[in-house]
Amino acid sequence: MTEFYNGRLIATIGDITDFEVDAIVNAANSSLLGGGGVDGAIHRRGGPAILQECKQLRRHSLPDGLPTGKAVITGGGRLAARYVIHTVGPVWQDGNRREDALLEACYRNSLDLAAGHAATTVAFPAISTGVYGFPRERAARVAFGAIGEYLYRNTVPRTVYCVFFSHDDYQEFVDEANAILQAVNDQE
Ligand code: ADP
Repeated sequence: MTEFYNGRLIATIGDITDFEVDAIVNAANSSLLGGGGVDGAIHRRGGPAILQECKQLRRHSLPDGLPTGKAVITGGGRLAARYVIHTVGPVWQDGNRREDALLEACYRNSLDLAAGHAATTVAFPAISTGVYGFPRERAARVAFGAIGEYLYRNTVPRTVYCVFFSHDDYQEFVDEANAILQAVNDQE
């Protein structure tokens, strides 16, 4: 576990469905009807109540699905987390299709929803770095920057966990974060 930003961003290794936080973020797809990876794990562990709410959202406000970069919130079902925030990361193409901006929007919009529901603790998976193919180091840079900027400007959420499924993913994030902080330091 490594802390950044005065302990308000914590990078750690684990299964996000175990996290006892106010909200966990799901790297969903635009259908909101479930998928593989972290999405599948969240629905399996959280039970059918989450999918029911997602279906309601589709029927009432999102007939065409959730656009990339946006986020919606449901209850957490049987998870320890009270809420699940579903966001759709960009599919990596070549880096010139607004992938960075869309991934940044995922973090910002998810944090906005968390704040709107008074969630003081939030856990994120590494959005888009699985089947969506976003290069991990570049995704780490976007995530670390977007979360850092949000925490700087807002007091809620108080603490954000970046949860990595493997030690390598975790280490890559920590290395990238330290490189960014070092570069900022060197400028000052
Ligand atoms: P995407 O479609 O956005 O790429 P994936 O679910 O395929 O989403 O992968 C996103 C990241 O989540 C990957 O780095 C993957 O290793 C990680 N992941 C998968 N399952 C879990 C889990 N249970 N807890 C935390 N992270 C997970």
